Amino acid sequence: MTTTEIKKYLKESGSFSGGHFILSSGLHSPDYIQCSLALKKPKKAEELGIMLKKLWKGDKPDLVLSPAMGGLIIGHETAKDFGVDFVFTERLNRKMVLRRGFKIDMGVKIIIVEDVFTTGKSTMETYETVKAYGANVLGALSIINRMGKKKFYFPHESLLKIDLKVYSPSSCPLCKKGLLAQKPGSRN
Ligand SMILES: [Zn+2]
Repeated sequence: MTTTEIKKYLKESGSFSGGHFILSSGLHSPDYIQCSLALKKPKKAEELGIMLKKLWKGDKPDLVLSPAMGGLIIGHETAKDFGVDFVFTERLNRKMVLRRGFKIDMGVKIIIVEDVFTTGKSTMETYETVKAYGANVLGALSIINRMGKKKFYFPHESLLKIDLKVYSPSSCPLCKKGLLAQKPGSRN
C-alpha cells in the first residue's frame, strides 16, 4: 500500500471519524482515530506489519515489543515479518510493566511498535521499562504519528503523519456551537 492507499484504507475501515470528541488527554477535537478498526482484518494487519518492517532502516532487532493494548496486533505482525519474538508490556497500578513470564535479556536489541504515537507517553514509558532490563532499544515504529512537532530522542518512523486539530475545552469552537461531545476512547 502507498501512503494514499493507507489513508484510504484507514478511512474506509472507520479508523478516522469526524464529529466532536473528548480525547483521553481531556482536549476536544473534531477528529478521532481508532486504529483497532483498521487492524481487525488479519490480512491488512499483516500488510501493515510488513510495511513497518520495510520502513525500518536500522539494525535488525532481536525482539519486538509493544505496550498493550493498542500495540499488540501491529507489534505481533511486525515481529512476524522480522522473524523475531514478540512480547508486550502492560499497565499495572499505572506503571508499565513486563508480566506473564516474558523475559528481556541484557543487551537484547528491541524495536518498540505502536499503533499510534499520540502524546508519546506510552512509548517513553515502555522505553524506560525496557531500558531497566539492560536492553538496547534501537527505536520505535508506528502506523500513525500524531505527536505534532514532538520527537523521540531515539530513531522512530511512522507510516502516516497526521496533525489532528485539538482545542482546550474552554476554547473549543464545537462546544461554542453547542455540539454534544463524544468520549470514545479505549475505555468505552
Ligand atoms: Zn468541544
